[in-house]
Amino acid sequence: MKKEYIAPNIERNYAGNLNKYGAKSVVRHIDNIDGVPVKELLGKYGSPLIVFSENTLRKRYRRLQDTMNMHYPHLQQAWSYKTNYLGAICSIYHQEGAWAEVVSGMEYDMARALGMPASQIIFNGPGKREHELQKAITEGAKLHIDHLDELYLIEKIAKKEEETPQVAIRVNMETGIHPAWSRFGFNYENGEAFRAIQRLLSGATMNLIGLHTHIGTFILDARAYYYAAKALLDLAQKVYEELGIAVEYIDLGGGFASQNTLLGSYTPGEFASPSLEQYAAAIGEAFNESPFAAQHKPMLILETGRALIDEAGSTLSTVLGKKNLPTGERAVILDAGVNTTITAWWYKLKVSPTRAFPGAYQNTVFYGPLCMNIDVIRAAVPFPDLHTGEAVVLSPTGAYNNTQWMQFIEYRPAIVLISESGNPELIRQRENLEDVIVREQIPNRLKDF
Ligand SMILES: *Cc1c(COP(=O)(O)O)cnc(C)c1O
Repeated sequence: MKKEYIAPNIERNYAGNLNKYGAKSVVRHIDNIDGVPVKELLGKYGSPLIVFSENTLRKRYRRLQDTMNMHYPHLQQAWSYKTNYLGAICSIYHQEGAWAEVVSGMEYDMARALGMPASQIIFNGPGKREHELQKAITEGAKLHIDHLDELYLIEKIAKKEEETPQVAIRVNMETGIHPAWSRFGFNYENGEAFRAIQRLLSGATMNLIGLHTHIGTFILDARAYYYAAKALLDLAQKVYEELGIAVEYIDLGGGFASQNTLLGSYTPGEFASPSLEQYAAAIGEAFNESPFAAQHKPMLILETGRALIDEAGSTLSTVLGKKNLPTGERAVILDAGVNTTITAWWYKLKVSPTRAFPGAYQNTVFYGPLCMNIDVIRAAVPFPDLHTGEAVVLSPTGAYNNTQWMQFIEYRPAIVLISESGNPELIRQRENLEDVIVREQIPNRLKDF
């Protein structure tokens, strides 16, 4: 057989040293997802293609459940819909026992449509509308109150409907994370959260059943959760002592980091991100020190999103073409861009070839198919010379991509779930023109041209 031609290139040799990206890169190939060949998946469902591993989804969920329970045995997880609200994905988490955590009326409707009882839906979010609250209250959902105007609105609806809403107060605080997220809920340090609770109880229209915080996202210091848990448990103790109410749960929100590598970071995510065990240990420590937890054993709720799902998702993409840039770098144009994979704007996504390469590496920029200069999937990574038409795997891409994806000039790709027995199952069809224009109306006078 004739040997394949490999174009020569010259690259400075930094033998034994770290390169300027922090480590000597070795590009490993991925030719299957959970045993199903990438080629087969692309042949059957088209390119690009988003693929989820059911095995990884369930394993990560159970891992968090088991690890947390070793430190404090009253964990209830609530799946953060905005991280990924595909019906099949949410259903897997609900099968595992997760409640739903929703941040908008749309997400609330999604959870109800999947069959979640309202009593297992936590309604967070800063922008709940009156009709959405009305529905959630009459159905019996758990409302997490973000600001005073929302509290007044809930009071008004409760009186009108003669209902007693089940509510928690959202609290923001200093946990050593910068910048501290202060936009959600009431502040802890200046006493605003306690005053909001006093106001809530004086209205005598709702049941205060929990305290909630969401301190941020991609929190790289597990210790922040110790401080967050401690603050909410101290607040719970104060509410119990001074107002006579023992809350049923402490909800620490989401924010655990996935194994992705942040764009600004030299340290790969596998090393920079705390493990689920480290987060659990920090939270467990605060609970085990707390007199409130010792006496009342409140339920601990975690709304972990990206750390559960990111590694379960990959995006398969095909090389449309290549060119050389004036910088000396190679450019590769992929059929998946930031329209399907918006987290390329925050992470150094891993780009993997789908076969082994004998050739040398050249610094390569991976672009998507969009007419925007910022459609960059991965900048400046040493990479072998791909051929037009061959596939690459982008990973991890399981979190936030198919909720934040954008329509811009392309149809959205199909999404496939690999079952635990290794069967690919289509969970979202590739879009067509009808999907894009079905809601439009063209006035008759514009139809003639
Ligand atoms: C987004 C969000 C989550 C999930 O956050 P991750 O960073 O994905 O873990 C959980 N709770 C609330 C209230 C959120 O807004």
